[in-house]
Amino acid sequence: MKEPKLIVLSSVAGGGKSTLIRILQAKHPDLAFSVSCTTRAPRPGDKEGVTYFFLTKEEFESGIEKAEFLEWARVHDNYYGTPAKFVEACLTSGKSVIMDLDVQGADQVKKKLGSKVITIFILPPSEEEWEKRLRGRGTDSEESILKRIRNGKAELKRKDDFDFALVNDELDKTVESLERILF
Ligand code: ADP
Ligand code: 5GP
Repeated sequence: MKEPKLIVLSSVAGGGKSTLIRILQAKHPDLAFSVSCTTRAPRPGDKEGVTYFFLTKEEFESGIEKAEFLEWARVHDNYYGTPAKFVEACLTSGKSVIMDLDVQGADQVKKKLGSKVITIFILPPSEEEWEKRLRGRGTDSEESILKRIRNGKAELKRKDDFDFALVNDELDKTVESLERILF
């Protein structure tokens, strides 16, 4: 990567964003990950400050008032937002940053930072496999899974608005495709 880029990965829940970002970061330690703030409850495997900063609704709303977020949105009944300072510091020091955002966040970042931003939508190979992965992850309640599937069907319709759309069939191949786009 020559000049620093902001890379936005979006997908339906269970599309594979976190898994792909983990692999990319292990292979490319210079790539920074923007840790988001959220009001959702931590799930098994979540780590404060690593996967998310977990905030109360009041803390999050105070962050909105103080314009601390580069973007924020309500997703699946919770707030999610990107701390602006971290992204700004990375870009200033020449580091590329990868972000895991929903489609509303991707829109906002593209609008604010334009040509610095590469947006990529990750697609599950089929609806059947998508549900299997979401259930197989074992981190969400049945109610939460059904809500994510419902919301995901609307999100899938936005895939053509992204710079790239990749089908996440085999992990190795998807990582290779991402590397071809980014490096
Ligand atoms: P997201 O962050 O987009 O919600 P995850 O990265 O948590 O999605 O992936 C959802 C589940 O699917 C995880 O259990 C993950 O291990 C699995 N998964 C992701 N990509 C693949 C793939 N290409 N093949 C098989 N399983 C996958
Ligand atoms: P999860 O709760 O499954 O980790 O994430 C739910 C959704 O919120 C995913 O679509 C994820 O991409 C999105 N998300 C995570 N962090 C942010 C953020 O900072 N801003 C926005 N707009 N969406 C986010």
